[in-house]
Amino acid sequence: MQYRRLGHTGLKLSALSFGAWVTFGDQIGRDEARNLVASAWDHGINFFDNAEGYARGRAEQVMGDVIADLRLPRDGFCVSSKVFFGAVDDPRPTQHGLSRKHVTDACHAALRRLRVDYLDLYYCHRPDPDTPIAETVLAMDTLIRQGKVLYWGTSEWSAAQIQEAVAIARAGHLHLPSMEQPQYNLLHRERVEREYAPLYADPGLGTTVWSPLASGLLTGKYNAGVDAQSRLGQQQLGWLKELVLGEPAAQRLDKVRRYTAVAAELGCSPAQLAIAWCLRNPNVSSVILGASRVGQLEENLGALDLQVDAAGWERVEAAFA
Ligand code: NDP
Repeated sequence: MQYRRLGHTGLKLSALSFGAWVTFGDQIGRDEARNLVASAWDHGINFFDNAEGYARGRAEQVMGDVIADLRLPRDGFCVSSKVFFGAVDDPRPTQHGLSRKHVTDACHAALRRLRVDYLDLYYCHRPDPDTPIAETVLAMDTLIRQGKVLYWGTSEWSAAQIQEAVAIARAGHLHLPSMEQPQYNLLHRERVEREYAPLYADPGLGTTVWSPLASGLLTGKYNAGVDAQSRLGQQQLGWLKELVLGEPAAQRLDKVRRYTAVAAELGCSPAQLAIAWCLRNPNVSSVILGASRVGQLEENLGALDLQVDAAGWERVEAAFA
């Protein structure tokens, strides 16, 4: 495993990390979740990603349970949570968003579910138009000073919103956001490569990027249709299927088919090649993997050993041109 600094912080995360979205507390059972965390840990993964909204909190419960069961040493792993979406179907207005109230309550709830005393990383899962950014910055700073959170950051905020948070924190001598969690893959790269570009030098933003395989699309598994057992075949995820495969993304499949042919010619697994492509970007601190079975995780970890020359990468880029 390689380890990379989280932006300008001193924290070193495994270049490949592991997340619980869709799978934990939902698609897979507790035993498979345990096997996945055990395998990730055995391969040197030291960062496990989660959120209050994943499976309505069950993803954090399962992760906390298996981490405790495996007796992972608290000073060896990092765990995250994210606040914003709350309990999706809870109508109470205090259960969502980035108010000081919800940021604080959600942190306490995540600590209980994950069975830890502090969160290593705590993200604002989306920007909240109903809460002043200053209120959220202050709430995060308070949690850090209380020892409940070590590093705070954002997920899918615009560069301008992150810059506003940084300016507020600097003016008030508060803790700055250390990281952003954006989507980054061969089909979705603009924000990480262009919009955030000025932020890597100042304030030294780290990135923990999500959906390196575009929900599995970049494995080529959807080239010939959707299997009911796979993520996009799940009935309750019709919205995601529409997002990943629907209009205007129909041309995406053509690109992915071209890409999988390139991977075959290069003698690589398309999944490994797509993850290795994310790792080439030095502004990526950690690529968060998702997997519904251990075999997938083990295949994906092989991305670390992939050797592709410049001509090979040019062919990959050309498939998406
Ligand atoms: P990916 O794009 O890598 O998709 C993972 C899914 O693809 C797996 O669950 C599996 O689904 C399929 N897959 C993975 N590897 C293989 C393989 N080798 N062969 C075939 N199929 C494979 O990542 P995720 O979308 O899961 O994102 C990773 C993590 O990022 C999440 O767990 C979460 O922690 C974080 N995240 C953060 C978001 C945010 O807003 N901050 C949003 C989304 C994710 P299946 O077997 O069911 O088809």
